[in-house]
Parts: sequence; C-alpha cells; structure tokens
Amino acid sequence: MMRVKGQNIENVKVINRSSTFRLLLANGPLSRIDIAAELNVTPATVTSICNELLQKNLLVQHEELDSPGKVGRKKCPVGLNYDYKHVLSIAIFPDSATLSICNLAASLVDSVVVPTRRSLSPDLFLAHLAERCIKLLWDNQLAKDRILGVGVAVLGPVNHIEGISLKAYSIWEQPVPVRRLLENELHIPVYVESNVCALIEAALLYGEIEHPNVLAVQWGPGIGSVSVIGGKVFKGRNFHTAELGHNFVDGIGERCRCGKVGCLETKLSVDAIAAEMERLSGLAKAKALRALRDRVGPPCRENLDKYLEVAFPPLEDYLKDISFRLAVVVNNAVQVLAPDRIILFGELFANNRLLEYFKEKIFSINETIVDDMFLRSDFQSRHTYIGATACIVKHLLVDTGGLNEAAKTHA
Ligand SMILES: [Zn+2]
Repeated sequence: MMRVKGQNIENVKVINRSSTFRLLLANGPLSRIDIAAELNVTPATVTSICNELLQKNLLVQHEELDSPGKVGRKKCPVGLNYDYKHVLSIAIFPDSATLSICNLAASLVDSVVVPTRRSLSPDLFLAHLAERCIKLLWDNQLAKDRILGVGVAVLGPVNHIEGISLKAYSIWEQPVPVRRLLENELHIPVYVESNVCALIEAALLYGEIEHPNVLAVQWGPGIGSVSVIGGKVFKGRNFHTAELGHNFVDGIGERCRCGKVGCLETKLSVDAIAAEMERLSGLAKAKALRALRDRVGPPCRENLDKYLEVAFPPLEDYLKDISFRLAVVVNNAVQVLAPDRIILFGELFANNRLLEYFKEKIFSINETIVDDMFLRSDFQSRHTYIGATACIVKHLLVDTGGLNEAAKTHA
C-alpha cells in the first residue's frame, strides 16, 4: 500500500485490512501470495495482516487445494469467516417488509415477511418491525452480540450519513429518522440506504461489478437507477442519485408517485404494463390473452411474466414501444455519464423477451453501445436482503478494517 501524506501507520494498517476484506469478499478464498500480488504489498505484510485477522476469528484457513501436477510452494488459501457474525436486514416496500438474517456472504439464514402498515405512524411501524426482528433472532437462537448490524433498505432518497429516509414514495410522506428510531428499539447499530443504492453496494462488494464507472438500471416494479463513479455510488444534491425513472418524457398520463406528470416510470412500471395488458385483453382478437386471464386472473405483478409470454401482435408492438422509451432514456444517460458497463436489475429485466427488445432498441439508437457493456445482475432472487446486508458488511466491517465494529454500538 502506497503511503500518502496524512496517513500514519495505524491508518495504513486499517487500509490494508480493509483491502484484504474487499478482495476476499469479491473473490472468495485466496492464497497469501495472491493477496500480496493483488494488493501490491509484500508477502510479509500479508502474513502479518492474516495472522492478526485469523487470531480475531475474522479469517479462516482453508484446506490445501489438491493441484496434481503442480510443483513448488503450497498455496494455502485464507478466506473471510462468513459466520463471524450475522446481519439483520430489513427491506421496506410499499406492500410488505422483509426481515432477514444472513451471514456475511449474504447467504440467507431465515426470513419473515410482514405487511407494511401505512396506517401506523412511522415510529409505531418501525417499533413493530423491531419487535418482529427480536422474535426472528429469538427463533434462530441468536443473541444480539452475534449481530454485526441492522441494514435497512427503503425506497426513495436516503441520507445514509444520518440514517434518514427522505421521501419513501408510497410508504412515508415525510422524512423519517429510521436509524435513530430502530437503534432506540434494538440497541444494535443500524445503517439505512436507498434500495437501489444498497443493491449496487452488494454488486460492488460481492464482485459483480469490476469496473470503476457503472450505470445501474432497475426495471421493475418501478424504474430505479444509480451511477457508480470511480468505484463509489454517486449521490448529489439532497442525496439524490441518477433517477432515470423521473425523466420527463411527455406531459400526459398518470401522475407519478414523485408528484409530477410525464415521468418515464409512469409509462413502463409493472403497474402500467399490467393496466395495458388488461386493456389489450379486451380487444376483439385477444383470444390468447383472454384465455390466460381466465386461467390466472387479471394481470398483476405476480402473474405478469405469463402475460409477457403471449404471442399477440398489438402486445408485441406495445412491449417494443416501452422498450424503446426506456432505451432512449438509458442511451441519454450513457451519453452523459460515459459508463464502462451498464448493470441491469429488476424483475422486468429478468424477463428475456423484454431484455431482448430493450437491447435491440438501444443498439438501434446508438451503435457505440455494444452487448459487452451489459451485465444482468444475478442478485434479483436475493433482492430483498442482499443490499441491506452488503451495506452493513461494507460500513461496519470492510471500511473499519474489522477493528472497531464491536465498539461501534450506538451512543
Ligand atoms: Zn416521477
């Protein structure tokens, strides 16, 4: 690790430990020689870091991997101790909140879904969630000191420094000091982040994103987006991120949850698509759509995938049209931000037909955008817990070098 002005030896140690965690979280177990090469430090430095972290039980020594035919020094890999502590994660959506316990690799241990009670005041609802968290810990026989921290992911912009949800669209109208309210109940450190930023933190931490400049776009249920610049999630004025969903596209249609009319999101959210499917199923020639409707019920978020598979020319035209609208806005963002990669999240991008239409449209708009630039996140099936978990692992373990997380309880 290079010494720069303002760094003392203690700082350098924290940075080295922090880089070691980062490397192991993204790559899995590595030999000391490989760690030294990756971090550009001497093997002696790595040995000293590893000994200290092995002693604290933060790392584990893995068995020698059999590599027949290979001669020379043994490469004994070390890895992060994923069960050093657990993480509690809370993801709050308009209809429900998911409470989960994960290990440090964001592998799910247990979870419970509770309805989001919008009729309760935020402090009463959060107290209710805290109660359910305590029950979940109890059911899993986990004492509070086994929990590294509580990660919270909510919709809308978040002041992550103070843990305040600024405007959780469709959940809370006003700013809510989520961290303070939950820490008062749980007495465990809490970290709050916006849902999309948290997902990107997971992609950065667990090795999905390897490039420094990335545009992340989430399609479904709404439209979310974040830009990563120089390896860091970018937030600007009032903790806002790149919000492609609230691009103005035309002045007609439904009022957006942000309060404006004409936002892209109102044209191609899951709800907007379901409403259009319903309209199309009323057309004279829509026999296949109506047959499906009889079988699975009116189009909604839960059955939308089935509707998306139906072959019906007006449906195909509609899907191509919304894919084009999204492609235009993503293309414009690419022109502004010049990302190395574009990572795609969300249940609608998980649909192959929509993904294909979207790519077809964006390639037709801009030939400098090529297939290699796209990456579809594998984290969709884990989206209710991986983001909040990653935030805790990053802020309480990686960034601190694993040193003061135990001392970092609330005031
Ligand atoms: Zn909007």
